[in-house]
Amino acid sequence: MTTFKAIRIDKGESGTTAAYVDFPEAELMEGDVTVRISHSTINYKDGLAITGKSPVVRRFPMIPGIDFAGVVESSSHAGFKPGDAVVLNGWGVGETHLGGLAQKARLKGDWLVPLPKGLSAAQAMAIGTAGYTAMLAVLALEGQGLSPAAGPVLVTGAAGGVGSVAIALLKHAGWHVIASTGRPEEEAYLRALGADEIIPRQELSAPGRPLGKERWAAAVDSVGSHTLANVLAQTRYNGAVAACGLAQGMDLPASVAPFILRGVSLLGIDSVMCPKPRRLAAWARLSVDLDAAKLASITQTVPFDQAIEAAHSILEGKIRGRVVVEIP
Ligand code: NDP
Repeated sequence: MTTFKAIRIDKGESGTTAAYVDFPEAELMEGDVTVRISHSTINYKDGLAITGKSPVVRRFPMIPGIDFAGVVESSSHAGFKPGDAVVLNGWGVGETHLGGLAQKARLKGDWLVPLPKGLSAAQAMAIGTAGYTAMLAVLALEGQGLSPAAGPVLVTGAAGGVGSVAIALLKHAGWHVIASTGRPEEEAYLRALGADEIIPRQELSAPGRPLGKERWAAAVDSVGSHTLANVLAQTRYNGAVAACGLAQGMDLPASVAPFILRGVSLLGIDSVMCPKPRRLAAWARLSVDLDAAKLASITQTVPFDQAIEAAHSILEGKIRGRVVVEIP
């Protein structure tokens, strides 16, 4: 029996378990492209899947890993041939379709994008789904007509994966960046990425008033809950907030006041089912706008056999920036 190395999540009576296994190749799911994976990552959602803390996995057994980079091994898809370097983000991979924390994946070629020119597989995964989502958020703010001339931009969950990449991208685009973090010890890290001001997470995380002083023209929020409500309440007239995460909570205990009294827009960001043209636009922009040295500074690389440990760490808020997993 031919097998490949993978993390496998199973469901038992007392919950889910994750383990390093030799996975039978015959159990790969349907698809017109088979990829030999070289790099994957640990995103917040991978943390939820591997620890079983939230029911993101919808099929068992599951191989977690919502993103990967690798090389096409075989293909009957017109767009890809053996040897092509590819990147995958989302589409339910690691949730409903066997995922990227493995040596192999088989899936629909339509889900893949070519590895952008100028990026290595390791760099593409240093960006990963978190960084590609940060890019989608920046594109959404720009699509709303917002530019640095409108005023400062706020990034919440600043030292996390989405937050770190968002800061670097926004600074590159010329914004005055305010970073909200619960880790004051990361001030030097955040300033090196491009943060002009640091504010404590607690300023935004408790229940607040429906409207507050207008502090920023735009925001990228990966935190949700009271934080997102307070971010909206302190957004300038005609500003916009790109909401992409739920690190504090899935709730949104807000009022309509910012929308109906200040014309503030709340922009939803989804990376999973995002249509291909927008993915390609996001990756093209990432490959040009993201400084390689800054990307390296936000990235730590772990061997495959430390991926489960890293998944626990990300939910404990102990990971700074991004974690790349090297697949053997
Ligand atoms: P990380 O864990 O790397 O970053 C999350 C950050 O949020 C932490 O680093 C921390 O930043 C902050 N944070 C953590 N817990 C709390 C809390 N209780 N209250 C306030 N802030 C908190 O995760 P990612 O960057 O990978 O993902 C961030 C969020 O975005 C997640 O919820 C994830 O599910 C979501 N996401 C959504 C996508 C989409 O398609 N919409 C795609 C990718 C991610 P600090 O220490 O600086 O305060």
